[in-house]
Amino acid sequence: MSGKSVQAQDASKSTTYKPALLKAMARLAHRDSGLSVPLTNLGEEFVRLYWDQTVVYHLRQAAVLSKEATVVKLIRETAIAKGVRKLGDLPTSDREHLITKMAKLLTVSVLAAFHSSKPSTMSALYTWDKAEKRVVFSPGSHAFLRDNVLAVELIANYHWAAYLEGCNRLAPRIIQKVSREAVRRSSLARYMALLMRDGEFECFYCGRRDRDERGIQVDHVIPWSFLLEDPSWDLVLACRVCNARKSDWLPAYEYIEKLKRRNHAFKMISGNASLLVTEPDIDRFYNAAISVEWPGFWTPGA
Ligand SMILES: [Zn+2]
Repeated sequence: MSGKSVQAQDASKSTTYKPALLKAMARLAHRDSGLSVPLTNLGEEFVRLYWDQTVVYHLRQAAVLSKEATVVKLIRETAIAKGVRKLGDLPTSDREHLITKMAKLLTVSVLAAFHSSKPSTMSALYTWDKAEKRVVFSPGSHAFLRDNVLAVELIANYHWAAYLEGCNRLAPRIIQKVSREAVRRSSLARYMALLMRDGEFECFYCGRRDRDERGIQVDHVIPWSFLLEDPSWDLVLACRVCNARKSDWLPAYEYIEKLKRRNHAFKMISGNASLLVTEPDIDRFYNAAISVEWPGFWTPGA
């Protein structure tokens, strides 16, 4: 296969490259008054933009994982190889390596494809020099991006999310997953008392019982990063070992059955309205996560 056909093939999968590039450029223009931007700065923004979507929220950027663009594959593979979920936890040398590769990929398909659907009457947003490894804005386009960074991001997020809805049909809260980065999770400590019985806890997964609070954590059976909320019907107590090992995986289906039994018993005792999710709804969330190729089906023995 010639280099040219590889480029064409990758550009055809580049639907999310355009909003990503627009967002990255608006941010860079907002932050820095220079008209000439090193490609590595753009590469760094790309890594930041795609990381959470890919590694934390497991959003597909194509109809199936195997068809994803190189940019996304690279991030996914790095996260798996290094066993890292937060971008901040990636060792500096790996991060730099990823940014360098990303900067190079931009020159293969992204920067050239961006202007492909531009009306001929519109001036280009930037020019780029492959040899110099830089992108250059005109004073007018730099000022436009800088002054309209929020509006430009909003438009980019809208188009990005609209595309992702087509590839991840059953994933909830896509617009939030696209527009918010490094979302802070609220503390689940307040659920601890609700979930403990007689001052003792039992790990939902391995059944280990303990009285020492230091050994327990509140866990989302269907991962938080899929639901992006903390409904009490989804929360259980887990020992630290199970919680760490399960990470953000879906559990095996037997734990969904167990969750339904737990909620039924809870509802009988507490009359807690927030537990009034129907059992078919729990199945729907579980199957929705499976449908977008969420990693699963974890068991304590795994
Ligand atoms: Zn356990």
